Amino acid sequence: MAEPILTSANFPQAERLRSQRLAGGVLTVVADVGGLNEAGRAAFERDLRSAALAHPEVRDVRVAMTAAKSGPLLVAVGSGKGGVGKSTVAANLAVALARSGLKVGMIDADIYGPSQPTLLGAPRRPEAIDKVLQPVATPFGVSLLSLGQLVPAGQALAWRGPMASGALTQLTEGNWADRDLVVVDLPPGTGDVQLSLIQKSRPAGAVIVSTPQDLSLIDAERAVDLFRRTDVPILGLIENMSGYQCPSCGTVSDPFGQGGAEAGAARMHIPFLGRLPLSASLREASDAGSPPAAGDGPAAEAFAAIAAAARAQLEKIRG
Ligand code: ADP
Repeated sequence: MAEPILTSANFPQAERLRSQRLAGGVLTVVADVGGLNEAGRAAFERDLRSAALAHPEVRDVRVAMTAAKSGPLLVAVGSGKGGVGKSTVAANLAVALARSGLKVGMIDADIYGPSQPTLLGAPRRPEAIDKVLQPVATPFGVSLLSLGQLVPAGQALAWRGPMASGALTQLTEGNWADRDLVVVDLPPGTGDVQLSLIQKSRPAGAVIVSTPQDLSLIDAERAVDLFRRTDVPILGLIENMSGYQCPSCGTVSDPFGQGGAEAGAARMHIPFLGRLPLSASLREASDAGSPPAAGDGPAAEAFAAIAAAARAQLEKIRG
């Protein structure tokens, strides 16, 4: 068989090519453009044509673009370790993105502690139609599929790798057809379970949540490394529990130091998306299934700004 005309050596996006055939100087290419928007597709086609036409045997190019197998546009939220507020931030990020006008879904893939049904007030078991899970509507415009909806409350989830990834596939292959974007709340940490979930679901971008302390930042660095190794573009870092907000006067003080995550993001060459203070009202509202991002006030504004920054990064990389 003849060598393919386009390879990763002369066309960096060669992994999107499904077939290529040269006949009479005309190269016919079938490419999967799933996940790219209109501008991204135009850029892809332009680059493909110029790479192909640079080949001495190619005088014309025909491109057929498909996106048949592309699933929803996923944005993963990860953290280097548990307890940094990843799930809380993921829930509020999803709500803030929905408030910004997108149709948003949430996949709760946190196999160790699926808390999205509580955070988003949607504990109901999803229906399956023709074996396809139907995301459960929440009061906040975000529809949800969670491992927590699939097992009885209180039952410990100690899924092993293959089982976890099988369950996650059911969630990612749910009926997300009407959603513009789906947030994925990953399990905390950077082990094999996370690696295979990322490889399987292939998110379009990733957000990392960290607290300002050095120790958490070292873990955040591992999360950055995990996404880099799996070729998932990093949209940026969110600093949570950044300073302490006094419940009576609202003043933010700094028992743990603030700005550590922002400096860390700069060092790791990833965007900094914003910070949220440690706040009792944020925790109470979250535990009560009433995400602060859905209300008014400083927390809602902070989440709206973070969502806008994440969205801008996503548009930039997909552009
Ligand atoms: P993770 O997903 O990283 O394990 P969670 O989102 O479950 O973390 O949060 C752990 C606990 O910390 C929860 O009780 C949550 O309400 C609380 N929490 C998260 N972020 C904040 C914050 N900014 N202020 C106060 N409490 C928070």
